Amino acid sequence: MSSGSAIRGSRVGSSPMRPDERSEPAPRRQVTYFCAAGHDSIIWFAAEAANPDTWDCPRCGQPAGLDRSNPPGRSRAEPYKSHLAYVKERRSDEDAAAILAEALAKLRQRRGE
Ligand SMILES: [Zn+2]
Repeated sequence: MSSGSAIRGSRVGSSPMRPDERSEPAPRRQVTYFCAAGHDSIIWFAAEAANPDTWDCPRCGQPAGLDRSNPPGRSRAEPYKSHLAYVKERRSDEDAAAILAEALAKLRQRRGE
């Protein structure tokens, strides 16, 4: 071994002494998810991590589940319900108008002060 050429000889990837030598990969396991469009996607999880029941399909974006015969996408056929629609469902339009009027009255009061 020649110590004189140590620096010149330390080319990337050539030395067994490199400190960033890969450590052992973390243990992982694969989970297969099925979406309503028939895609099966293999997702890798850390071995000790719990995998979720559903996962967005990487190919079509639909929710995918663990059960091939019953993918979760099918139950989501109805359009996404917005928060506003949800609120409207619980309150009649009349109520909403009353609440709005009340809010406006309060606002005017505050401005009048
Ligand atoms: Zn899909």
